Amino acid sequence: MIETGEFDFENRIVAPQVIAGDSDTDYSLRPKTLNEYIGQTKVKENMAIYIEAAKKRGEPLDHVLLYGPPGLGKTTLSAIIAHEMGVNIRVTSGPAIEKKGDLAAILTSLQPGDVLFIDEIHRLSHAIEEVLYPALEDLMIDIVIGNGPAARSIRIDLPKFTLIGATTRSGQLSAPLRDRFGIIQRLELYSTEDLTEIITRSAVILGVAVDKEAAIEMASRSRGTPRIANRFLKRVRDYADVMGDGRITRDIARIALDRMEVDNLGLDSLDKRMLTMIIKGYNGGPVGLETLASAIGEEAVTLEDVCEPFLMQLGFLARTPRGRCATDLAYKHLGFPLRSGGDDGQTSLL
Ligand code: ADP
Repeated sequence: MIETGEFDFENRIVAPQVIAGDSDTDYSLRPKTLNEYIGQTKVKENMAIYIEAAKKRGEPLDHVLLYGPPGLGKTTLSAIIAHEMGVNIRVTSGPAIEKKGDLAAILTSLQPGDVLFIDEIHRLSHAIEEVLYPALEDLMIDIVIGNGPAARSIRIDLPKFTLIGATTRSGQLSAPLRDRFGIIQRLELYSTEDLTEIITRSAVILGVAVDKEAAIEMASRSRGTPRIANRFLKRVRDYADVMGDGRITRDIARIALDRMEVDNLGLDSLDKRMLTMIIKGYNGGPVGLETLASAIGEEAVTLEDVCEPFLMQLGFLARTPRGRCATDLAYKHLGFPLRSGGDDGQTSLL
């Protein structure tokens, strides 16, 4: 039997999305320039060139699609792009644009060169996408005013602007929408070194003293995700204030993270339940994602967006055409005896 138990999946401490308690200091921790943006070297180098070229030509930047798991800095990078271009940014998201009129209102309020940032752009409805296409291509939108026989359509010209779309799942973007982006960049999970630097930078901004080993300890459990690293820093600071003199040492970081049930590699109980279900419930896999999700009582998209990228990076999970498999490394980490016959030919990425 594998228990699913009472667990607040939405607010898990290692959730890469924004959770309750995140937002208050988030803004101050966001880097404002490309130089301050840590890691993602390839993306940064590419963007620096595109930005400089657009500025030299005196034109807005081409439309940009940023994709990658949540919490890796897509929103932050978009604001940096606008800042480096010297223009304003309007921030919205796919689910927030419910009606054509919502999008029309945003588009008609843009100033020349502005950046329009649409988070979760894969969640735009088809009808809204249809409004976006002429706006991107011909810089105009048609708006219908009134109802029934009295309805009439008026055409509004728009200034040249830059659309930046962010998505966790580029495969779900419709092909015509994807084709409208001249620049497509994929953000990768961060290395422990980059996350250590991010934690050190955030500690300076928050005025917290952090030992180098403590920063490394928090970084190595942050699942390659800056949002989680910053969250750990803030929560571990509470422990340091109560248990010590406010300085975050490695011991305090370890105790705090252990108490938060984040293990030495950053796995929490959801990851462990997922792997344990594959191992004990399906003899190591393969098992289909939907079957697995319903077996542990979680949404398939959560497992796919949130657990899988990290478990695959660790080399604990393999995606095969027949379903998900736990690798030997996962068996070892969770303390299960290895199966005879190995791990389906999958090797570790570590
Ligand atoms: P996303 O839009 O991909 O979900 P965000 O842009 O909201 O992610 O980033 C989450 C948090 O992580 C931000 O508040 C920011 O402080 C931090 N962050 C993200 N990327 C970086 C980076 N490259 N350097 C420093 N901090 C970062």
